[in-house]
Amino acid sequence: MTSDTKPASKNETATAHKSMFDAVLARLDVAAKLLGLSEDIAEILRHPQKEVKVSLPIVMDNGKIQVFEGYRTVHSTAIGPSKGGIRYAMDVNDDEVRALSAWMTFKCAIAALPYGGAKGGIKCDPRKMSVGELERLTKAYTTALVDIFGVNKDIPAPDMGTGKREMAWLLTTYSNIVGEHTPGVVTGKPITLGGSRGREAATGRGVMIATLEAMKKTGMDRKTATAAVQGFGNVGSHAVRLLHSKGIKILAISDHTAAFWNEKGIDVLAATKYAESNKGVLKGFTGGTEISNDQLITSKVDVLVPAAIQDVITEANAPRIQAKIIVEGANGPTSAEADKILNEKGILVVPDVLANGGGVTVSYLEWVQNKSGLYWSEEEVNTRADQSMGTAFESVWYNAQQYKTSMRIGSYITALKKLEKAIKYKGVY
Ligand code: NAD
Repeated sequence: MTSDTKPASKNETATAHKSMFDAVLARLDVAAKLLGLSEDIAEILRHPQKEVKVSLPIVMDNGKIQVFEGYRTVHSTAIGPSKGGIRYAMDVNDDEVRALSAWMTFKCAIAALPYGGAKGGIKCDPRKMSVGELERLTKAYTTALVDIFGVNKDIPAPDMGTGKREMAWLLTTYSNIVGEHTPGVVTGKPITLGGSRGREAATGRGVMIATLEAMKKTGMDRKTATAAVQGFGNVGSHAVRLLHSKGIKILAISDHTAAFWNEKGIDVLAATKYAESNKGVLKGFTGGTEISNDQLITSKVDVLVPAAIQDVITEANAPRIQAKIIVEGANGPTSAEADKILNEKGILVVPDVLANGGGVTVSYLEWVQNKSGLYWSEEEVNTRADQSMGTAFESVWYNAQQYKTSMRIGSYITALKKLEKAIKYKGVY
């Protein structure tokens, strides 16, 4: 962190909370206080607009019925229709979806997109389910939520455990029910069904842009810089590839099966090819020494990119973190307690609501293409998305400086300013 952007002082740092949504609120409160946000507006944003929980009975391949829990939370439509991914994971629950939906509200506002925020999920382990079971589950979820979703109402997208395949199932189910092909109801679709070029790599690309911007601010030379990236899924694998393409040496990579370290630099192409041939996982990769995920987080690198799951940077490992810049590819990788420690250590944290906004930005561009029926080249998409990320980074940096706070609180302030205006213009009755 440069002297321009000071670490947050004690009273500017949110306190620890067990609930993920409480942690969001704690940070919102800190930003609201610094900004002088009206208590009425803060109160509105403390409450998600709509929360739905559905039970999804599915015939499993063994002929037995299993009932899954599905969720969708619309946090805010103050700025526009709600936007947010769908997550398939065993730890999905109402609190997590609520927190992720609020982050989407802030993320879209920071990226200056005409969207509110939402999130959804199904409590399931997609790795243990067959393709047929996942298809039936996705179609049941879409059917249950067909009144929530809509091109100008609520637009889902992929998140952890889902991708273009699930988005295609969602699109076809929704279109069949409403009786017309409706590509704009979901983003992150296959290109042949109206998906956007550049969407698949978009979140990782945004992480790369955010990293380069943070390096510029801290005077770090990317040609000599090193990085460790946790997670080798959609966000992590593209972040690794794109950071490497900018000359940054990737010393460590990992997924849920293994983590690897190579002092000379991981052969990124070899790792990608290996994972592709190994059911998408890194276990057994021979291009580095096997380390633990905790060793990756605390490894001696310039840039750390957590791009897997939440709560991986905690008060237990934050004091040992050696990176100078942390770019949050994942949502919620840093606990509130860890935030405080990182601030005190002077580590520049580019927060999730800014750093992983590249995905929703290209989702927006996909939606615009679906609405207009005019489709752009990958270059056009990337140029627009890169510009948008750069602008979002600058506005968060500006607010962090202006309010003498961290980039995390600066990002909330950036969002709150826009949300306050939108809510006031519209009026509350
Ligand atoms: P993904 O399912 O494609 O990949 C997740 C990766 O994390 C996999 O490599 C998995 O092995 C790894 N992982 C899981 N548990 C782990 C553990 N305990 N330790 C180390 N690695 C572990 O998911 P994704 O889409 O890449 O999402 C990753 C994160 O980025 C999530 O927090 C998600 O909310 C966030 N995100 C995703 C997008 C997007 O466009 N996909 C956009 C914004 C934010």
